[in-house]
Amino acid sequence: MGPVRVRQEGAVAVVTVDFPPVNALSTAVRQALIAVFRDVADDESVAAVVLSGGPSRFIAGADLREMAGLPAPPFLPEVIEAMERCDKPVVAAIAGAALGGGCEIALACDARIGGASVLIGLTETRLGLIPGAGGTQRLPRLVGIARAVEMICAGRILTAREACAIGLLDAVAEGDPLAEAIARAPGTVKRRLSRVVVPPGEEKEEVAAIAVARRKAGGVPAIEEAIRVVTATRGQDFAVGLAMERAAFLALRESVEAAALLHLFFAEREATKIPGLGDARPRPVGTVGVVGAGTMGAAIAVAHADAGFPVLLVERDEAAAAAGLERVRDIYARQVGSGRLTDGAMAERLGRIAVGADWSRLRDADLVIEAAFEDMDVKSEIFRRLDAVARPGAILASNTSYLDLDAIAAVTARPEDVVGLHFFAPANVMKLLEVVRGARTAPDVLRSALTLARKLGKQPVVAGNEDGFIGNRLYAAYRRHAEYLVEEGAAPAEIDAALEEYGFAMGIFAVSDMSGLDIARAMRQRRAATRDPRERYVTIPDLLCEAGRLGRKTGGGWYRYADGVKAEDPAVTALIAGERARRGIVPRRFTPEAIQRRLLAVLANEGAKAIAGGIALRASDIDLAFVNGYGFPRARGGPMWAADRMGLTAVLGEMEQAYATGGAGSEPAPLLIELARSGRTFSSLDRGE
Ligand code: NAD
Repeated sequence: MGPVRVRQEGAVAVVTVDFPPVNALSTAVRQALIAVFRDVADDESVAAVVLSGGPSRFIAGADLREMAGLPAPPFLPEVIEAMERCDKPVVAAIAGAALGGGCEIALACDARIGGASVLIGLTETRLGLIPGAGGTQRLPRLVGIARAVEMICAGRILTAREACAIGLLDAVAEGDPLAEAIARAPGTVKRRLSRVVVPPGEEKEEVAAIAVARRKAGGVPAIEEAIRVVTATRGQDFAVGLAMERAAFLALRESVEAAALLHLFFAEREATKIPGLGDARPRPVGTVGVVGAGTMGAAIAVAHADAGFPVLLVERDEAAAAAGLERVRDIYARQVGSGRLTDGAMAERLGRIAVGADWSRLRDADLVIEAAFEDMDVKSEIFRRLDAVARPGAILASNTSYLDLDAIAAVTARPEDVVGLHFFAPANVMKLLEVVRGARTAPDVLRSALTLARKLGKQPVVAGNEDGFIGNRLYAAYRRHAEYLVEEGAAPAEIDAALEEYGFAMGIFAVSDMSGLDIARAMRQRRAATRDPRERYVTIPDLLCEAGRLGRKTGGGWYRYADGVKAEDPAVTALIAGERARRGIVPRRFTPEAIQRRLLAVLANEGAKAIAGGIALRASDIDLAFVNGYGFPRARGGPMWAADRMGLTAVLGEMEQAYATGGAGSEPAPLLIELARSGRTFSSLDRGE
């Protein structure tokens, strides 16, 4: 039995792909499909064909493990050509995922019948590619150019209902799509999309779809290529379009962006493999409690309500609870205002969040997340109360950014139930969830945190319990060195421009202004007592704080914000110049590339220290943290991946200069030195080489 089986029901040949776990389009599947389609095309007892992937799946897409290696024939276009040659109607019976190449196969059929579980879409751009087997040419012929651009560029995955509404599915079966497809197949007329004319579209809609796609391109060249080949379908011969698509696909396949995105794809799967968890099962989590309804707590409550959890949001007193409820309402009102949420959905979600000051209700919670002030005394007091009120076995989590999780756990009689759940602002939007493993955190509690992350649609990264965990630890070094560059002569706006050119959504000083300069100041003050006196300390941010410049919220920080518009501020320029003069620094110029290389080296160096110290399990986890929580450009794969591309010898050279500038705390990491000297990379380290 090969990976594709054929049986006959009357005059209908039922072709079933059976290649666990997801029917990926591996070489064996491609070979078998070509052979089977040639056979059924020639078999006179067959009048029609149904293509299925079994009761709960179709074809999930390319085999990405193969994609990472050398491509082996036959290629997908040959499979599709064999299907296209068949003169008998072919009906796709789709259940579950029909993504990427799986969707292209569905598009090469004459009709598509879906089940309720369908998830269908051309998702190749998520990996920096475009569809390479006719998807860019067939989809617009079926749904129009504007929709095809939108779907392909966003890598959008449609449900059965959505796909049916735009004609991507011909019908959604009440029950088994296979039975319905078999019933319909004999009466289906041959309809090769390759021969269909692209429907006349609304030019306005096309222009709008293209504009949105370009805005969200994020430095991924596949987006522009997708726009080019999809729009070329109008008035153009199918074969010409197909050749155009294939050439673009093959070129993108070699691109650094596709390699980076493929790296992140595998990194996401690796991130939940945690040593020491054994076969620990997650604890069931139904009701979720949240303590503190400030910026983070309100958004954490929203994140859970959005995912369907009933939430108990608890504050210090009734007045604070009322303010917290307002915050929650505001988040939803903004979503309704911008058309992302309906009034009905808002009411439903708000209905899941009960806000109050009565802590006794927390006894019903399976998980409580503390999001109160970043203060050890406050958190200790809260965890003592939680220990008294929460039911045995409930998970107690803290959203602390920097504080010692073990010290927090130690105030309870159940430190094994305590875990860090470090959300990022805005918590209902940002994908990263840093899961902090304390010294005593039980395996099933950690497993529960990873399961929760999936239910919330977040990317978990497990971190060890050390000041700043993974993300903020790296970020602190990055910010320090950005400030050294300012003191040495670069303007904050120059640094931000270099970072934005690199692909960051926002430069570091603009980010500081947004989150508030007081947050970093509090951290510096906390560390003041233990700071190595040989570490270079830039006082400019303290001076800004003293001048009342706490960022956007005070109308100015590193920049000024007259009417909300960011602009360089001569007062800040003068303040910086004064500090340089006071320290006897003659300012020098930095090119954007010099800024980018320096800050990338600093991130990778600090990342190497986090790996060596066991704070991060692997380099790819650090990449995920930075891409999902700190605006690092996805198309560059994360700081550790990007450092490998820069070359670790060059990174080390850059770091030696950074050390000369920064002093204590900026030493090149022994792990970086070792990798550079032995000609290895962070990727090879992750592979255990
Ligand atoms: P915030 O000041 O906006 O909110 C804190 C809330 O906690 C307030 O509403 C306060 O009334 C409430 N609170 C204080 N003591 C309490 C008590 N004893 N019982 C119940 N409620 C109490 O602060 P925030 O920015 O939401 O930060 C909360 C936590 O999240 C901190 O630990 C912070 O480090 C962490 N965090 C913040 C961010 C961020 O960007 N703001 C990001 C990640 C993590």
